Amino acid sequence: MDITLLDQTLASAGQPRFRAGQIWEWLCRGAESYEQMSNLPAGLRSLLADQVPLSCLKVEQDAYARDGTVKALFRTGDGRPLEAVLMRYRDGRRSICLSSQSGCPLTCSFCATGTMRFARNLSASEILDQALHFRRMEAIDHCVFMGMGEPLINVENVLAACERLPDVGIGHRKITLSTVGWIPGIERLTQQSMPLRLALSLHAADEALRSELMPVNERYPLSDVIEACKAFYAARKRRVFVEYVMLAGVNDRYEQALALAKLLRAAVGASGETIFKVNLIPWNPVDTRPAQRGYADPEAGEGPARLFEGSSRESIAAFKAVLVERGVPATVRLTRGRDIDAACGQLAAKAA
Ligand code: SF4
Repeated sequence: MDITLLDQTLASAGQPRFRAGQIWEWLCRGAESYEQMSNLPAGLRSLLADQVPLSCLKVEQDAYARDGTVKALFRTGDGRPLEAVLMRYRDGRRSICLSSQSGCPLTCSFCATGTMRFARNLSASEILDQALHFRRMEAIDHCVFMGMGEPLINVENVLAACERLPDVGIGHRKITLSTVGWIPGIERLTQQSMPLRLALSLHAADEALRSELMPVNERYPLSDVIEACKAFYAARKRRVFVEYVMLAGVNDRYEQALALAKLLRAAVGASGETIFKVNLIPWNPVDTRPAQRGYADPEAGEGPARLFEGSSRESIAAFKAVLVERGVPATVRLTRGRDIDAACGQLAAKAA
C-alpha cells in the first residue's frame, strides 16, 4: 500500500492519526480488502476502497512449483515488472525473497535479471507489498533480499521497508540483505541499528575472475569489500554469509577452493574467530543471452552473452570439504523452485 497516499487521504478526510495504524495492522494480518477492517467506519472503508488501492503492485501471475515454492510476477503502477518468491521448508520456515529494483543496473554474467533493462529502484511501499502479497497466503517469518536488483544501491528504501517487516511477522534478525559488494551500502548497513544480516555474493576469490563474472568488482575490488565486511562484523557482531554459485569449470576447481579458504580465513574478528560462513549455491542452468530469452534489446548492448553450466554434486562436495577442512564453515544451499525459474539468478520477469 502506498503509505504516503494513505496518510494524505486520511488527513484530507479529517480522520484521526490512529486510523493509519489500524489499517496497517489489518494488512499485516493478511487482510484482503477494506471490507474486512471491521473497526473502521463503513463510510471510510468505501472511501479508501475508491482512493487508496490495497497494494501498489498488480499481481500478474502466481506460479507454483512442485516443492511448494511460489513465484509472483508483479507490475508497478507505472508498468515496471518485478518478481518475488515464497519458499516453504519442511521445518516450517516460510521465507520470502524480495526484489529491491525492477531489473538491475549491474550485469553479473550468470544472472538472468542482469540481462533485463534496468527500470528503477522500488519504493519502500512497493517492497512491502511483495511481502504482504505472500502474507495474504500464509504467515511468513524469514526474508532475504536476493530477488531482482542490488538492494544496497536502493538502501534507504530497503531499510525503510525493513523497519516495518517485523509487523508482518519477520523479525530483524531474520532478514538478510544480499549484496555484490556495494561498499557505500555496506557502510550504511554498518551504521544503522537494526540487527540485519549481511550476505556477500562473492563467487570468485581472485579479482580478475570476479571482475569477469561481476563487473562491479572493477569499481569495488574484493579486497576493499572484505574490509567493509570486517567493519560490519566489528560493529554489528553478525557473521557475514558468503554466497558462492558453483559454475562448472569456472570457479569450482580445487585451487579456487583453497584461495577462497585463504581469503576468508585471513579476515578474522577481534578474538581470531571466523567472520564468514559460506553458502555454496548449486547453479541453475539459465540462458542469460538476451536474444535467447527474447526480452532484452541486443542493439542497446544489453546483458552478457555467456552460457554456464552448474557444477556436479561431487565437485560441490569436494569444494565444501576444502573449506571446512581449513576452518571455514560451509553449507550447500537447498535449491527451491527450479521448475518455475524461481531459483537464484533466474528471476527475470519473462513477461517484461
Ligand atoms: S546478481 Fe544481483 S547484482 Fe548481479 S545482475 Fe543479478 S540482480 Fe543484479
